[in-house]
Amino acid sequence: MSLLLVARWVVNAEGTQLLSDHGVWIDGDTIVSVGPVSELRPSAARVLDLGEVTLLPGFVDAHTHVSVRPGEGDQHGQLARPPAWLAFRGARNLEAMLASGVTTARIMGEPAAIDFAAKALVSSGDLMGPSLRVAGEALSATHGHGVALGVADGVEGVRLAVRRNLAAGADHVKFFMTGGVSSSSGRLFDHHYRREEVRAIVDEAHRVGRRVAVHAHGGPGVSICAEEGVDSIEHGSLLTDENVALMVKHGTSLVLTKSIAHHPEGIERGDASSPTVLSKLMEARKADEASFERVRQAGLRFALGTDAMHGFFGEEIGWLVDRGVPAPEAFLAATWEGARVLGEEDTVGRLQEGFKADVVALTGNAFEAPREALAGIRWVMRGGRSFDVTGRLGEGRVLPRPDFV
Ligand SMILES: [Zn+2]
Repeated sequence: MSLLLVARWVVNAEGTQLLSDHGVWIDGDTIVSVGPVSELRPSAARVLDLGEVTLLPGFVDAHTHVSVRPGEGDQHGQLARPPAWLAFRGARNLEAMLASGVTTARIMGEPAAIDFAAKALVSSGDLMGPSLRVAGEALSATHGHGVALGVADGVEGVRLAVRRNLAAGADHVKFFMTGGVSSSSGRLFDHHYRREEVRAIVDEAHRVGRRVAVHAHGGPGVSICAEEGVDSIEHGSLLTDENVALMVKHGTSLVLTKSIAHHPEGIERGDASSPTVLSKLMEARKADEASFERVRQAGLRFALGTDAMHGFFGEEIGWLVDRGVPAPEAFLAATWEGARVLGEEDTVGRLQEGFKADVVALTGNAFEAPREALAGIRWVMRGGRSFDVTGRLGEGRVLPRPDFV
């Protein structure tokens, strides 16, 4: 059904400025046109005037998970719970994502085919959540960081693991290269796969048109992945000058995940009692600032992910704004840059004719006061379906129950 969305401010297609007295005309699940309200109003069957809000494309969370919650600690322990427990709780997490304005989410590894089920059930309308892109089980070396999400060793082993995930319906491939913060296995700079294994993973995925994303913080592991054609480096908290230069050279994308390490509700809350995790967290936080500085200097583009901080997507945008990234650029990272990482930049992440009707309404002028605007998410549309999320997000910790309107 045809619907005209009207708001005080509407972001332009490029994401560079806010247009006044403009509307977004939706038909079914697609944007038909963006233009002056006076021109569009006569032909619209229905008008929804959202008032003093900014309309932006729905956010793209380019790195998250369905079932775990970092703030509750011991993520590996959480992943060892029965699949039904993980799945039921994942349903609430998906609602929180949607209420925080995320309309597309890339899931980066999930046990027991939970992500495949979640994707299908969101698509059928049985679950409320963002539209999902899924990986199935991630690949980790036996001594690596991601063993709770899947293990594969050796060139033949990783080839088989990739093929199994693809056969199950994976949209992309995720593997773990370096150590991570939230487990005790491996220092952040260590890497667990050999170059030959990375090459095999990329070959298996690219041969059938799938992208490869890698958990990697910095050091030789990142350089190998960039050289071997991995499509995106995830996290990148300890990127060296060489890492950044190689990523620029090979066109490797970067997905930043900041709230899990920097927000007090993240790993800090969940794992403060583990000295190993806590010391790695402090290391990552400190290095993060210098790493991000290198990214900025090199002009490397980036997208954003919450890494399972469900409902905290606004904190990812806020982290950038706090470090001087102009609001339009921060929102672009939250939308179209995410779509680029997914390879969906022609249909997702812009308010433009022919794009998916994914729209979020933030209170006030989002470019002038981004944090205030993000704290007041008023309304979300995913694929042409509206959700009233007013007051549902609270402090960002409350898991909301968005209503269909
Ligand atoms: Zn992750």
